[in-house]
Amino acid sequence: PEFAIGIDIGGTKIAAGLVDAQGRIVAAAKHQTPRHDPAAVEAAVAAVVAEVGHDAADAPVGVGAAGWMNAEGTEVLFSPHLAWRNEPLQERLERTLDRPVILTNDADAAAIAEHRFGAARGESHLVLLTLGTGIGGAIVINGELRRGRFGVAGEFGHQTIVPEGHRCACGNRGCWEQYASGNALGREGRTLVAAKSPVAYALREAVGDDPEQVTGALVTRLAAAGDPACRDLIVEMGGWLGLGLANLAAVLDPGTFVIGGGLGAASDELIATADARYRASLSGRGYRPYASVVRAQLGADAGLIGAADLARRSVRG
Ligand code: BGC
Ligand code: ZN
Repeated sequence: PEFAIGIDIGGTKIAAGLVDAQGRIVAAAKHQTPRHDPAAVEAAVAAVVAEVGHDAADAPVGVGAAGWMNAEGTEVLFSPHLAWRNEPLQERLERTLDRPVILTNDADAAAIAEHRFGAARGESHLVLLTLGTGIGGAIVINGELRRGRFGVAGEFGHQTIVPEGHRCACGNRGCWEQYASGNALGREGRTLVAAKSPVAYALREAVGDDPEQVTGALVTRLAAAGDPACRDLIVEMGGWLGLGLANLAAVLDPGTFVIGGGLGAASDELIATADARYRASLSGRGYRPYASVVRAQLGADAGLIGAADLARRSVRG
């Protein structure tokens, strides 16, 4: 097929695009994620597919979703941010959409896109992170995506980085994504607003002193506009991010770390701080090469572009 439909189901929004063979998005649509209702997620996916796909009846659908897929790509085993538990999502969506559906993890999809069309073209050893609601992770070794024995490799967001630290949606404590994600940034911002902190005047004013209105995206915007309190939060988060990168380098030794997702796409300062902390924390530093730490080129669209690419290549025609 000439086109494929890519869907990125995240913890906050569902993004869809009709994508050509060069990874270009020719039509796009968005929907809020109904987080607590699997049937409503399917309905939302059907709505965005109808919106972008009405002129492409033969386009297959690739879905990259914020969940832990089985190795066969038929079932979402678990998701910290959505209501899926052993959900046979592929079959459900094929029935609802009446098109072939390929299912993969959202970060794996983003890695496919960045590797083929984006920041990691030509890189043989790549680790990709998406910073959004959580931290998504993907591993490319010798040019190939590695998904582990059961499909759930690369779940870096749930490695314990602070023993007995903040509670995570996965049930454990101290997961990396509690320290370096859009949600983590939102939580820190909320804490300042709830404390009526005098340093957070810009943030407090932006939300009318209502902590519930604080989001990671808002903190990122204010930081980019130069607000010192929000910049402090970004710098602190960059430190956590870089520390985790050094841990990953000890295990995987990639040539490039690509940082994407809504938050990764939004902040240069975050990436610069992460790079500095990574270099300062890497074991054996000074005696071994450093991986480069780069921003994803396809930004927040990487997931849907990669999912579409996977679907287009999996379906004959
Ligand atoms: C989930 C991942 C997902 C990531 C980003 C994490 O909490 O465990 O599967 O890729 O969030 O959406
Ligand atoms: Zn966790």
